[in-house]
Amino acid sequence: MSDVITVFKGDGIGPEITDSVLAILNAAGAGLTYEIFSVGAAEYEAHGALIPDEAFASFEKNKVLLKSPITTPLGTGFRSLNVMMRKKYDLYANIRPAKSNAAIKTPFGGVDIVIFRENTEDLYAGIEEMVDENTARSIKVITRKCSERIIRDAFDYAVNQGRKKVTCVHKANIMKLSDGLFRNIFYEIAKEYPQITAEDKIVDNVAMQLVMHPQQFDVIVTENLYGDILSDLASGLIGGLGLLPSSNLGSDYAMFEAVHGSAPDIAGKGIANPTAFLWSACMMLEHLGKNETAAKIRRAVDEVLADGSVMTPDLGGSATTKEYEAAIIARL
Ligand code: ATP
Repeated sequence: MSDVITVFKGDGIGPEITDSVLAILNAAGAGLTYEIFSVGAAEYEAHGALIPDEAFASFEKNKVLLKSPITTPLGTGFRSLNVMMRKKYDLYANIRPAKSNAAIKTPFGGVDIVIFRENTEDLYAGIEEMVDENTARSIKVITRKCSERIIRDAFDYAVNQGRKKVTCVHKANIMKLSDGLFRNIFYEIAKEYPQITAEDKIVDNVAMQLVMHPQQFDVIVTENLYGDILSDLASGLIGGLGLLPSSNLGSDYAMFEAVHGSAPDIAGKGIANPTAFLWSACMMLEHLGKNETAAKIRRAVDEVLADGSVMTPDLGGSATTKEYEAAIIARL
């Protein structure tokens, strides 16, 4: 596979965390060539396109994208650039690992959950209308094809990573047809994986269980909206959005991004935590077969966090993004 990757710099804290992550990848000897593009609100104001054609063409050529957060400006006709990218390239599997780090103090220890979020349908299908001026309608779409592939990916991951259990999260007691279909398909596919425990839970119960006994969860597979909400919750269990990476995988393309948004409230202050984006880059290195480089970076981050003297403000420290980046590079 090509070692040339496409990088979208994005908005808000996007450019800051991208610079740090690329500096760390280079210092770790990742051996990558980057095609870097400015995308999003700033690009739209400067050149009239949110994502320039060359940026799409680069991703279509390289197949691997490291994408920092993008703000979708209001009034541009796009509902969400993030949703558009996932649908355009059929990046159906959004994989979000939330793992406790001993150095980050939270009320919860021993969390190690991987959320498989279906990325292309559900209430994100974009079918919305005003029935009359006081009534709006959004249609939830659940299909066998999209459910089967995300559920199968979750079980395959469990087998390959030596995990024990997959939990299907749904609300089939109320949405008997749509969520009922998702749950039924889950148990059909579970039969192909007798070595993995399969269970299902209702989403509201899961929200409560996650803050009472998060250690019971191993791999979670769920629909788009529940996955969005529960993964932000999971980030809270491990220390916040600055620590939750993700990959978005389809059969042809792969996109790696932090779960957080562009954090406009801290943009330009040089204090953003680049860890979630850096760990997303590590998932990208693993996708490219560069496991040793990913492990080296993960070790350096763990050492810096364990040392505790150079932490960004979201983790209770006072370091800048650049100081944190330098501390990681020093450990490499
Ligand atoms: P979106 O809708 O795109 O997810 P949002 O505005 O809902 O965006 P975020 O941009 O993710 O949410 O920000 C939520 C909060 O988390 C903000 O207070 C932001 O400053 C904080 N935050 C997000 N990412 C980071 C980060 N990498 N480092 C520090 N704080 C962060």
